[in-house]
Amino acid sequence: MAVEKIADGVVVSIAYVLKVDGQEVERADADDPIEYLHGAANIVPGLEEALNGRAVGDKFSVTVAPEDGYGPYDKTEVERIPRKDIPGVEQLKRGMMVEMEDDEGYIYEATVMEITKDSVVLDFNHTLAGKTLNFDVEVVGLREADEEEIAHGHAHSEDWDEDDDDWDDDDEDSDDDVDRRN
Ligand code: ZN
Repeated sequence: MAVEKIADGVVVSIAYVLKVDGQEVERADADDPIEYLHGAANIVPGLEEALNGRAVGDKFSVTVAPEDGYGPYDKTEVERIPRKDIPGVEQLKRGMMVEMEDDEGYIYEATVMEITKDSVVLDFNHTLAGKTLNFDVEVVGLREADEEEIAHGHAHSEDWDEDDDDWDDDDEDSDDDVDRRN
């Protein structure tokens, strides 16, 4: 059965341009759209909300406030860490993204803000936290999600990369999932 409109449980293909402060920061063209599972918080809430009920061919622009995007900027997410606690600290430069692992093995991405003789200041906010997001969107395709996609809470596209944290922030997928996908 063909899917007419975007609703929960539908795998949606979209082309989009994301601009922040007038600058393009992300883009997916219509010949290489991204696929996501609607209703599973795969994309920022403000964009997901704006896509609800849309059909293939719909084009629209939406402005998403930080609260409905990547969240407000949180000053307490900026931390000063002793150099000795940072592996490969000699390699670091201001503005670089680094991955830090906590005691439980969780990986966090951070931006290097400052490097001193004894410490490094890391910003654990998402790079788009506190930003107003301007999306130009085109709905390119719709299909029903299969059971496995619903169970995993994300779409399994042809070129799906389970490690691609743009679209899959959790680590709950096991390796066998990769073998069973289409
Ligand atoms: Zn999966």
